[in-house]
This record gives sequence, C-alpha cells and structure tokens, in this order.
Amino acid sequence: MLIGAIEAGGTKFVCAVGDEHGKIVEKTSFPTGAPEETLALAKQFFANFNIKALGVGMFGPVNLDRKSAKYGTVLNTPKIKWRHYPILEKLKKDYEIPVYLDTDVNAACLGEYHYGAGKHVDSCLYMTVGTGIGAGFVLRGEVFQGRTHPEMGHILMKQHPNDSFAGSCPSHGSCLEGLASGTAMEKRYGMKADLLAEHNYIWEIEAYYLAQALMNYYVILSPEKMILGGGVMKQVKLYTMIRKQFMKLLNDYMEVEHVDELIVAPELEDEQGVKGAIALAVKQDL
Ligand code: ADP
Ligand code: ZN
Repeated sequence: MLIGAIEAGGTKFVCAVGDEHGKIVEKTSFPTGAPEETLALAKQFFANFNIKALGVGMFGPVNLDRKSAKYGTVLNTPKIKWRHYPILEKLKKDYEIPVYLDTDVNAACLGEYHYGAGKHVDSCLYMTVGTGIGAGFVLRGEVFQGRTHPEMGHILMKQHPNDSFAGSCPSHGSCLEGLASGTAMEKRYGMKADLLAEHNYIWEIEAYYLAQALMNYYVILSPEKMILGGGVMKQVKLYTMIRKQFMKLLNDYMEVEHVDELIVAPELEDEQGVKGAIALAVKQDL
C-alpha cells in the first residue's frame, strides 16, 4: 500500500511516497512558496501514485487542538501568506483520502522513533536546532501533546556569563530559540553559523544552552534517547560539548549509564520528516 508524505518546512517542501514500512519509493522537493501554488506542485507529484492516506509534518505553529473549530489551521507564523491557512481542510478536500497532520518536529521525532535512532527504545525526544528550535517527544508510539503541540524551543534560559546578547525571539528575547537557534547565532555574531566553525568559544556557549535545554527535558520527561538534528548540529563537535555540559548540569541527580547513547545524532539523514509523516498515517487504523 502506498502512503503519501509531506514535510512542509519553512523553506523547503518535501513530498514523498512510501510503503507502510517507511520505505520511500519516490521523493521530490521544492521551495515553500505561497500556499496555493506550493500545494498545487505537491498535488502534481502525488497524482502519479495511488496513495491511500497522507501524513503531513507541518511547520508551526499550527492548531492541533481537536476540540477547536480551527483544528488544522496554521497559526501566527512569520510566513504571512500561511497565517491562518486551513491546511488540513484544504488537503482533505483536494485528496479525498484520510489526512493526518502534526508538526514538522513531531513528525521527525516519530520518524526517528520508528525507523531511526529511537527504534529500540520506548521513549525518545527529537530536537531540531536550525532556523528555529523545536522539540517533540514520542512515548510508546504516541506523540506527546496537551491541548495542542508543545513549544519546547521557547523555554527560559540561564544566560552564559560571557554572553550579553539580548536574544532574537520576538516574543521572549532570550528563550532557548532566542539564544541558540541559527538565527540567534547570525544576529549575535553578524554572520551565518556555518562560517563560525573554528571559533571554539562560540560553540561552548551554544553547547551550554543546548545542554540546559536537554537537562530540563530530561528531568521532566526522562526520555531514553535525545536525538539532536537540524542545520546547526552539522557542527558535530557540539555533541561531545553538549554531553559534557549536560552531565555537569545533571550533577549525578539522575542516573545516566552512557551519555553518548542518550544524546545522539539522527540516523535518517534528511528523511526523518517524511518517514515520520508516513508513520503518522500508518499509526492510524488504515
Ligand atoms: P530549517 O531550520 O530552516 O528547516 P536547517 O535545519 O537546515 O533548516 O537549519 C538552518 C540553520 O542551520 C541556519 O541558521 C544555518 O546557518 C545553520 N547551519 C546550516 N549548516 C550549518 C553548519 N554546517 N554549521 C552550523 N550551522 C549551520
Ligand atoms: Zn521564544
């Protein structure tokens, strides 16, 4: 059986068709433009396949409160044309098959849980450190959600003693995303994060914030794996720095047998989003 998957990122739209085991048969991607034109391109791609369901990992924030009249509507995104766009309703109307929606980071978490770094555990957290920061948590196959999806990128931070940057989050200034996203790094240092590779003190500060976030997630959720992806994590030295800072912050309060098995890189390269979107559809009783 073929299932359609969309990973709708803020910059890139990835569409894929795969089977119920998460094996990708065909994939394409194009820049995320205005909703109608972007969804028309997706429709063209899926027209070549007989898909039975569609899973969607959508950039947020998006209303996932099933009790709300606005369920499945994009919320206050900086992408103006997508603001208040009823994405779920539009897709259901266009495809006339079951459509399942979650956030991009929750889909990525589900993808890694089923097919990647989290496939042998019962609980895993996935955090993406890119243009923004977001994290999702999957427990025994269920994506964790309260009324709507959590916003774990916007937790409050203790500022590094050598960092006087006010933060880049329009809502909170120096929250995690405001201090440690790629956008924050670019604003603080005046250049893109990948050009700062050789300045070690910058990455120590970055690790300090990301480790704080993981410490908070760990004491609250106790995940068996914490998987870190996104563009900024291409600086692989961060993994070692974060593990060290994390252990220092945790200070033996909770037992961690092997920190290098707890804090890990993703295993699905750039496919966790679409594979997770497939898993989202498979998970429902098809
Ligand atoms: P998005 O979050 O938009 O989906 P990415 O996960 O690719 O996209 O993240 C983009 C961010 O990652 C940008 O801020 C960019 O500067 C940063 N980035 C990309 N490559 C690297 C790298 N090699 N080292 C550090 N930062 C990087
Ligand atoms: Zn914030």
